Amino acid sequence: MSDTSNLRYADVTLLYVEDEASTREQVSRILTLRGYRLITRVNGQSGLDAYREHRPDIVLTDIMMPQMNGLEMVRRIRAMDPEAQVVCMTAFSETNYLIEAIDVGINQFVPKPVDLSRLLAALDHCLEIIELKKRHGMLEAETQKTRKLEAIGILAGGMAHDFNNLLQVILGYVSLARMCADPDSKTAELLGIAEKSFDNARQLGKRLLTLAKGGDAILELTHLPPLIIAGIEAELRGTSTSCVTDLPADLPPVRIDAAQFRHVISHLTINAREAMPQGGTLQVSASLCSLAAINEQALDPGDYLHIIFKDSGVGIAPENLPRIFDPYFTTKEMGSQKGMGLGLAISHSVLRHHRGQIQAESKPGEGTAFHIYLPLSQTNN
Ligand code: ADP
Ligand code: MG
Repeated sequence: MSDTSNLRYADVTLLYVEDEASTREQVSRILTLRGYRLITRVNGQSGLDAYREHRPDIVLTDIMMPQMNGLEMVRRIRAMDPEAQVVCMTAFSETNYLIEAIDVGINQFVPKPVDLSRLLAALDHCLEIIELKKRHGMLEAETQKTRKLEAIGILAGGMAHDFNNLLQVILGYVSLARMCADPDSKTAELLGIAEKSFDNARQLGKRLLTLAKGGDAILELTHLPPLIIAGIEAELRGTSTSCVTDLPADLPPVRIDAAQFRHVISHLTINAREAMPQGGTLQVSASLCSLAAINEQALDPGDYLHIIFKDSGVGIAPENLPRIFDPYFTTKEMGSQKGMGLGLAISHSVLRHHRGQIQAESKPGEGTAFHIYLPLSQTNN
C-alpha cells in the first residue's frame, strides 16, 4: 500500500474464492499474514452468497470452479455493486476466457501459478482505487455542504437587509409613541421593553449579515496565537473548563479579519464549554500543513495553517454531524444564555470568506474536534 493510503490491511475485508485446496491454503496464509480480514469460499455460488452477506472491499477469485465459475460470480456481483473491486487469477490454459473476463469488468489479472509479490501489488492497487473513490466522495460531500450553506447565506442576507429596514421603521414609530406617552405611564414602560427587544433583533440582523457576506472583512496579517489565547480566556474565565494550548511562537502570520476570527474562536470555545458541563479540558493546537490537489477539505492546493479545537465532551451523534453547520440547527434548548444554532454557521461562513475551511469530527461520549484551515498567503513569505 502506498504511504499516502489511510486504509490499513486490517480494515479491509477480502473475499477469496478458490476451489483448489493447496493454492487456497498457500495464498490464504500469505493474505492473513499481510493482515487482511479474509473470507474464503470454494466455488462461485458460495462466493456470491458470501459477497451478499459480508460486502467485502475486494474480491479475489479463480475462474474455473465447480457449480458456478468465477466469471459468472463476478457478473452477478457487478449487477449488485458496479463499483466492486475484483482481482482474477488465471492459468494460461484459461486465456480463452480473457475477453469475457474483461467484459464483466475484472479490474486486474494475476497469472497462475501465482507470483505472490504480483498478487499483493494487484491487491494494493485495488486499495488505492478504493481510497481515491472514498476521498472523491468526501470532496463531493464537502462541496455540496458549502454550496448549500452559501445558498442559505444568500437567503439570510436578503432577509436580514429587509429585516433591518422594517426594524428601523418599527423603532421609529415606537420612539415617536414614547414621546407622545406620559413618561410615568404603563404605556411608556411597555414601549421601553419593546425598545430593548429591538437591540436583540438588531444583533440578530447583524449575525445574519455576517452569515451571508462574512461582513465587510478587513484582512490584515495577524499573528494568531495571542488572538486565540485571548479569545479562549475570555470565554473560559471563571468556568470549570480549562485549556491546554500548543501554539508554536514561530507560526507565520495569516491574513485574516481579526474581529471575525475572534467570533469563530468564541463560538468554538463556548460550544466546547457547553459540551463539558461537568468541566474538562479544551485542547487547542496549531501547525502548518500542505494540501494536495485533491483534498478532503475541498480547498485549493497549497500551504495552510491547521488549527484544532478538541474537547472531551458529550460528542455529536452521527446523524447530527452533517447538520451542525446549518443555520438554526441546535440540540440545545433555546434561551437567552444558550445560542440559537448560528455559531457554527457563522464560523463556516467566516472561514469560507477567508478561503479556508472548518470541519468537525466527533465520537459520542468521547468528544469533538474542530479543524480549521487558513491559507498562508504568498505575502507571508
Ligand atoms: P448552538 O451552540 O447555539 O446550538 P452552534 O451552531 O454553535 O449552535 O452549534 C450547533 C450544534 O452543534 C449544537 O447545538 C451541538 O449539537 C453541536 N455542537 C457544536 N459544537 C459541539 C461540541 N464541541 N460538542 C458537541 N456538540 C457540539
Ligand atoms: Mg454555539
